[in-house]
Amino acid sequence: MKVLCILYDDPTDGMPSKYALDSIPKLEKYPDGMSLPSPKSIDFNPGDLLGCVSGELGLRKFLEDQGHTLVVTSDKDGDGCKAEIELEDADIVISQPFFPFYLTRKRIESAKNLKMAVTAGIGSDHVDLQAAIDNKIDVVEVTFCNSRSVAEHIVMMILSLVRDYHNQHRIVNEGGWNIADAVKRSYDVEGMHIGTVAAGRIGLDALRKMKPFDVHLHYFDRHRLPESVEQELNLTFHESVESLVGVCDVVTINCPLHPETEHLFDDALISKMKRGAYIVNTARGKICDKDAIARACESGQLSGYAGDVWFPQPAPNDHVWRSMPNHGMTPHTSGTSLSAQARYAAGVREILECFFSGESIRDEYLIVKDGDLAGMGAHSYSKGTATDGSEEAEKYKK
Ligand code: NDP
Repeated sequence: MKVLCILYDDPTDGMPSKYALDSIPKLEKYPDGMSLPSPKSIDFNPGDLLGCVSGELGLRKFLEDQGHTLVVTSDKDGDGCKAEIELEDADIVISQPFFPFYLTRKRIESAKNLKMAVTAGIGSDHVDLQAAIDNKIDVVEVTFCNSRSVAEHIVMMILSLVRDYHNQHRIVNEGGWNIADAVKRSYDVEGMHIGTVAAGRIGLDALRKMKPFDVHLHYFDRHRLPESVEQELNLTFHESVESLVGVCDVVTINCPLHPETEHLFDDALISKMKRGAYIVNTARGKICDKDAIARACESGQLSGYAGDVWFPQPAPNDHVWRSMPNHGMTPHTSGTSLSAQARYAAGVREILECFFSGESIRDEYLIVKDGDLAGMGAHSYSKGTATDGSEEAEKYKK
């Protein structure tokens, strides 16, 4: 079979010959008891850079030993890009949300042999799920593999926005020492109201991680958490997102992108937030109206916006979030730390081992199966597509 893998570019100065750490911690299980990815074996060193082209997710030996073909490329945008050409006769396509190969209906329909789209990570909104359903292409992702990595990033971003870290760091880098400049927008998070839109694996972990800061915690979700969890965290549940944003100083967005959540944070919703609130969005860029966010950062309705998710990706060089005031954006990195890469590379290997041997893939990994939403997908997504506009990714120039 032919496996097409779309990965981000190698480091500009080549693959690392040595890493910052000699090893990464070995985790036993996820907090809810779910087991970590468990392939029969792996051919990579956990902690190595696997998510870029030369890293190949550690798959080449495994696939070639079994007589399969692996094609890896980062050329993924625009008509006639390498990924689009290779897709035409590929059986399996693997892509990471950080550098998504947008599987639009047109691309899915051009891929006559395609059986499965694997998301090396979490969040399969780069696949036109409706087209996958209609064409009976299975969609799977590595549920939980990087949820806690993202929650760590959220905590970092909440603290850095509220304390105005970016500004202070810039002052030091520029050789300055004006303390008044450095603190005139700097606050403590203690006592603030922090709320999450969605309390799934990431949202709940972010709440748990924020608890020791002595803040008031809030959430909105389609399903309510168990009472014991609400009590443990002294959580306030909100029946609507409007109710949540009306009382929170910091709102973190942790729901998947699907037709129900696309552009949820628009001018109307942002105007219902407390003046000067902060948003941290590590879920998906398209859950926010990008221009509404920029306007709110300009006017002071928002004191800051941070996150690592954009639409499309890579974000065009002139994307307004690159230059709006008081932002703490990173490229899409939170879920692709070297620690997370080890987990999702192992998860992809587990999925492929199951696929080739005819064993069933874990229910938790399924988004679309046999022409319908399935497993996690049936729980967290709605039918439809969120890929419209993805062709803009072609505008990014290195
Ligand atoms: P989970 O599936 O554990 O959680 C998703 C939660 O969102 C569920 O609780 C679900 O509710 C809730 N939800 C779905 N639709 C809505 C809605 N319309 N309104 C409110 N809540 C909703 O996933 P994770 O927490 O692991 O990941 C969440 C998202 O984060 C991913 O889909 C992905 O987009 C993004 N992500 C980003 C990464 C990054 O690197 N920046 C890495 C990993 C994920 P319920 O189950 O109650 O229906």
